[in-house]
Amino acid sequence: MTEQLAIYRRYRATTFGELRGQDPIAKTLRRAVADGRLGHGLLFVGPRGTGKTSTARIVAKALNCLAPAEGEPCGTCRSCIAITEGATFDVVESNAATSNRIDDVREDLIPLITNPPTDLKRKVLILDEVHRFTNDAWDALLKWLEEPPPGIVFIFCTTDPSKIRPAVLSRLQRFDFRPIARAEIAAKLQAILETEKRVAEPAAIELLARLADGGMRDAESMLDQLLSSGVDPLKAADVEELLGLPGADRIERLACAILDADAPAGLAILAEFEARGRDPRIIADRLTDLVRRGLHAALAGGGTVPGDAAKLPAGLDLSDGGGATIG
Ligand SMILES: [Zn+2]
Repeated sequence: MTEQLAIYRRYRATTFGELRGQDPIAKTLRRAVADGRLGHGLLFVGPRGTGKTSTARIVAKALNCLAPAEGEPCGTCRSCIAITEGATFDVVESNAATSNRIDDVREDLIPLITNPPTDLKRKVLILDEVHRFTNDAWDALLKWLEEPPPGIVFIFCTTDPSKIRPAVLSRLQRFDFRPIARAEIAAKLQAILETEKRVAEPAAIELLARLADGGMRDAESMLDQLLSSGVDPLKAADVEELLGLPGADRIERLACAILDADAPAGLAILAEFEARGRDPRIIADRLTDLVRRGLHAALAGGGTVPGDAAKLPAGLDLSDGGGATIG
């Protein structure tokens, strides 16, 4: 059963302590829950895959746990299990991407808001992608934010707070989720690999962490895809091949062709990328990264980087982070 669940579900954080890369938020929320002073309206803002809904679920558990430890949910009591299994009507998740009209709010959300909790202490409404709500839908919700029924907590999640009107924002306690640092992503991927008894080269993990661009869920989904291919140990070249990325060796040849003003060679490589359907954005990203490493290496070697001094050191390997700053 667990084998069939996606990695990002299986390894989802279940306590504030397990949340990666959002320490200030985890600490603030845990303390607010422990002190019983969490507001009734929370707004989680941040890029996709940075832990907003995972955190919302942890808050729901922490508020309802029968045996919490300093604000952390126990994970094993009747309430925690009911929330984990989605077996309670008192913790509800809804996505405004699919239910954003006033009728959705009236028919689905208002009854949930107005009825008191049935089997848990607190009712928690987790609403995702709330920037998709229509104005009418917000009008219907606003009244309940202004005068919330006892026991209810609203958790709004969004990637785009600029689309939420000030009257709503002013009633919510806002938490900004940051893109997760590469080192944090790499550490979690490594931990997953160890649990799964699989092996990946450090360069492969570093490449995945970079491609994830701050989103843990994307990193985990890519790892899932790679592990299901059965390749073991996983190398950076496997990541490139399986995810359809432009190869490090070709990126290096492209950079050299540009530096040498060798147009035929450069165009031939670009044509090859195009023929293989490689994503131009990823080509640009990897090229930029290679140039950055070259410049750092030049700086470390000579102090300044005018003209030819910036030429890439021969054999500079894209997949090798050693010595060069990646950022
Ligand atoms: Zn519990």
